[in-house]
Amino acid sequence: MTAYPQLHMMIDGERVAAGDRATHRVINPATGETLGELPLATAADLDRALEAAQRGFRRWRNSSAQERAAVLQGAARLLMERADTIARIATMEEGKTVAEAKAEVGMVAGLFNFYAGECQRIYGRTLVRPAGLRSIVTKEPVGPVAAFAPWNFPLSNPGRKLGAPIAAGCSVILKSAEETPASALGVLQCLLDAGLPGDVAQAVFGVPDEVSRHLLASPIIRKLSFTGSTVIGRHLLKLAADDLKRTTMELGGHGPVLVFDDVDTGRVLDAMVPHKFRNAGQVCVAPTRFIVQQDIFDDFVQGFAERAAALKVGNGLDPDVRMGPLANPRRPDAMEKMVADAVARGAKLHTGGERLGNQGFFYAPTVLSNVPLDAEIMNEEPFGPVAILNPYVGEEEMIAEANRLPYGLAAYNWTDNAARQRRLARELEAGMITINNISVGAPDSPFGGVKWSGHGSEDGPEGIEACLVTKAVHEA
Ligand code: NAD
Repeated sequence: MTAYPQLHMMIDGERVAAGDRATHRVINPATGETLGELPLATAADLDRALEAAQRGFRRWRNSSAQERAAVLQGAARLLMERADTIARIATMEEGKTVAEAKAEVGMVAGLFNFYAGECQRIYGRTLVRPAGLRSIVTKEPVGPVAAFAPWNFPLSNPGRKLGAPIAAGCSVILKSAEETPASALGVLQCLLDAGLPGDVAQAVFGVPDEVSRHLLASPIIRKLSFTGSTVIGRHLLKLAADDLKRTTMELGGHGPVLVFDDVDTGRVLDAMVPHKFRNAGQVCVAPTRFIVQQDIFDDFVQGFAERAAALKVGNGLDPDVRMGPLANPRRPDAMEKMVADAVARGAKLHTGGERLGNQGFFYAPTVLSNVPLDAEIMNEEPFGPVAILNPYVGEEEMIAEANRLPYGLAAYNWTDNAARQRRLARELEAGMITINNISVGAPDSPFGGVKWSGHGSEDGPEGIEACLVTKAVHEA
């Protein structure tokens, strides 16, 4: 049995308990039970965090790359040692299966190890000048970062938000989701236990709008990093604009999946069905619109619905379960509304379309076909376990549908035709494209979108670059 920890904030290296602060109740989405009460930051708490972040930045910008690498490597080691406990706590808070939560731990450890190497390769350049003159170009950390991470990847979202600034020599104030605080605190604790000074990385929680307004109004913060919905991202960008802060925005998606008739549909379904229902579909890069060539459509729909109906849904702590609950009561409400709207407009429901059980926030794996373009779900990110399957005649029409929406995060493609593979990679408007596989991310690979899915990348060398500014020095 893993005990759920006492909740706190982490400000200037100190655990800040609730005391007389307002609190947020953290709920287990599989059972509806209360896990703990999370303290919410006051304005004074945030000012204290800002003052510490300023001090932490002065300290950390002068650290050596080797020192930063040692902290990141040490944290990666501690994460793997604590993987079982950290993963089970993430499952209790968010609902995903323990196997998925463990994969997140591994992803964060991999990213920290990658950054440990990459931060030692932050280079500048010397420009050729006449004798007696010298011009050099250097990279410097941008400054204290305010980072906002959502609940759907309770470990890897905070891991990304912390790893890049720390590698680059910045300080960071993390506000992770109030729904999943212990997971974020678990990742931060590994960094602190590996020797990171407490003023370099801190964790606050609060009323999201109050925290973001307070932090982004401060000139101490030089960068905003946000993962979440496009609506909130746009709002935060406006707040950051007043002070011209640097931004990395990882926003919503509406992943198209193009399936052509030259591939084995069984192979596609075996890969895509579990990928669709990973984390109950609450994934920004989730495959959402399946754009399927007409002559394989009926078989594809049937195979999809059979596999979806066979998925075992239940508490993510049960090792036999393949899909857990949705993370909060907003999601099943949204699923009900979107599925009802689609069916009312003529979509066909093949399986699911209903809540499950009498406790927690479960919703059945759901498959819809022939969904009209004016249905809400064809235009808004479902962020839940609903797959949309529609038939199309040819490549041009399929690409047009994929690019129809203003989102551009992940796009998946299944075809064995090499010339078509190249055309798709070029024509699809997305930050991440896969051909005949489901993997959109790796520590060394940039993760991010275009259009309404945001700008800037996390992970890869690009993740560190996003935390650096460029300075040219001209000497005579
Ligand atoms: P939401 O937009 O209210 O919240 C998303 C995240 O942003 C949460 O972690 C929340 O704490 C934070 N947030 C909200 N308002 C904020 C503010 N003013 N300042 C700072 N942070 C703020 O939505 P939700 O109900 O939690 O999730 C539903 C939608 O959010 C989904 O439909 C999906 O589009 C989007 N979402 C996207 C991602 C992603 O990975 N891109 C992750 C989670 C949620």
